[in-house]
Amino acid sequence: MFTDTDKETKPHTSFSQIDTYQQCPRKWAFKYVYKLERERLSHYLIFGSAIHTVLARIYAKKMLSNAPTAPEEAVDFWVEDFDRAIDDAEMSVDYGKTGYSDLQMLGMGMVEEFAKLPLILEVVGVEKEFRADITDPVTGEVMDKQMLGYLDALVLVDGELVVHEHKTAARKWSDRKIADDLQASVYLWATGASRLTFNVLMKTKVPRVDCHQTSRTEAEIELALQSVVNGLKGQQAGLFEAKRVGPYGNHCATCEFARQCESRGPI
Ligand code: SF4
Repeated sequence: MFTDTDKETKPHTSFSQIDTYQQCPRKWAFKYVYKLERERLSHYLIFGSAIHTVLARIYAKKMLSNAPTAPEEAVDFWVEDFDRAIDDAEMSVDYGKTGYSDLQMLGMGMVEEFAKLPLILEVVGVEKEFRADITDPVTGEVMDKQMLGYLDALVLVDGELVVHEHKTAARKWSDRKIADDLQASVYLWATGASRLTFNVLMKTKVPRVDCHQTSRTEAEIELALQSVVNGLKGQQAGLFEAKRVGPYGNHCATCEFARQCESRGPI
């Protein structure tokens, strides 16, 4: 499943695309079909991306020299990577009610806490690319798009392949969320890894890292694949419903196309 550069590749989708379509098909269409320019760049995106960069450096150091990263060094990475993410952004960052300094301090505490954890594992890949053909579990139809993804890290624990994914969160993840998480199902299916660990860096007053392990049964993988296939079929059929109400309605408040959504008619 890991990318063989000589192999011919097909058009692709990604977990992020499927997730966006599930949040709101209209938003997916704005982003991936009509390719509209985003109206705002939330600090959440920049913050999360900089956290990922720091953790990628920590895992890469472990992979290349089997050396841990000291907490002070992780903080130095953060200061560098957070500012670079802001400088490289395509537009000015919308900080909302949060200021730059608050975010910088928060990130420092979070990466420092992460670096205090013992990283007792063998890192075999960082930002590792994979591609997999997607087959409808009911009809056996092979979809015309492959799943393309990048694992935050791939590690060996007691000889078993384990995927590590890094997240930030303000609230503790529930057992239900971990068990139902579509990204975990997709990544475990696509890589054949036995387990996935979510390293969730908590944006709490006293920063902490919650590490959640999860795995999937074959039946759970099939359900997840069905969900991916349904998403792809909806996209192909041009089903671009606006999810303004219901459990996904709260995405409108942070949607980067909210004004264009208001002013455009049906698409
Ligand atoms: S504003 Fe709401 S309904 Fe409109 S595209 Fe964004 S998430 Fe969808």
